[in-house]
Amino acid sequence: MEKIEELVEFLKTPKNIVITTHQKPDGDAMGSSLALYNFLLPLGHNVRVISPTEFPNYFSYLPNCDEVWNYLENPNLSQIAIEEADLICCLDFNDLSRIEPLDEFIKGNTHAKIMLVDHHLFPKEFYYWSLHDTKASSTCELIYRLIGLLDKNYTITKEVAECIYTGILTDTASFSNGATNKNALLITAHLLDCGLNIIYVQEQLNQNGREEKLRFLGNALSRNMVIREDIGIGIIIVDKKDAYRYNLQTGDTEGLVNYPLTIKNVKVAVLLKQESKIIKLSFRSKGDISVEKICRENFEGGGHRNASGGKSYLSIDETIDKIVSIFEKEKIV
Ligand code: 5GP
Ligand code: MN
Repeated sequence: MEKIEELVEFLKTPKNIVITTHQKPDGDAMGSSLALYNFLLPLGHNVRVISPTEFPNYFSYLPNCDEVWNYLENPNLSQIAIEEADLICCLDFNDLSRIEPLDEFIKGNTHAKIMLVDHHLFPKEFYYWSLHDTKASSTCELIYRLIGLLDKNYTITKEVAECIYTGILTDTASFSNGATNKNALLITAHLLDCGLNIIYVQEQLNQNGREEKLRFLGNALSRNMVIREDIGIGIIIVDKKDAYRYNLQTGDTEGLVNYPLTIKNVKVAVLLKQESKIIKLSFRSKGDISVEKICRENFEGGGHRNASGGKSYLSIDETIDKIVSIFEKEKIV
């Protein structure tokens, strides 16, 4: 990280700090935001985490999660906090369009310094300080690194450890996908020494759900999954009717996209989720196949090589046709 001494100096006096992350935050977005919050707060800063949208309530176990503002519920105070910020920390995204509608207020605050901490490909240049590493397993891994740079004598608290571990665990799909690296394992080992209880986090994330969510999963896999082994893809569709029928909550589709990849000849899995005006797309791939490129070139999106997202303004059927025709040409099998 360049100009780190300047950041250390900057943080020596109390500052107004806003931490923000991408829409519909996942475990890494929530974990990194709250890890940084729980690190900065005891140093005497005035810190506020603002999510551009709602976030899954299964992250409520993260220490101080109830202090996070959802911009959509708290627009006026959020705008004031951003206006008054001396430092705006942008975590787990690298393109301001990922935090709409917060982006315009951040652009409007010309006196604040912006710090980016992120591991996605192709960052846009809107920051003053940055810790950006596409080889990092997660933004939480980078927050761990940042804390070490800011204060090498800092002893990680149990609270910060839980937040960092949550992001590492969820972005690596429990140490199983291509984002998994040596640092993720080494950091986790260190976090255990800092009081982390792995069983507790696992119970909160995976054994704390609702029956409706499990029934929804069964229905999605048996009725709403299209498998095209001939072109190597599997698509799961979640339409508004299902969302209503199963009382879907934010975050309930997390992980669903991975299921088609359990089939040997499926190399790319796609989740199509109908939202109020658009279709949100999640892509996952095996091996060298870059779904990042496919999302960037076709669906106004991006992310990582094996895990990316984007959006479609077409109907569900037209979107499926578009995906199928892309993979008929890509010849991934
Ligand atoms: P997910 O499929 O879990 O929503 O997202 C997978 C990865 O792609 C995440 O790292 C996420 O930040 C990124 N991503 C998801 N949607 C978009 C998008 O619309 N634009 C960009 N640039 N990245 C996205
Ligand atoms: Mn991430």
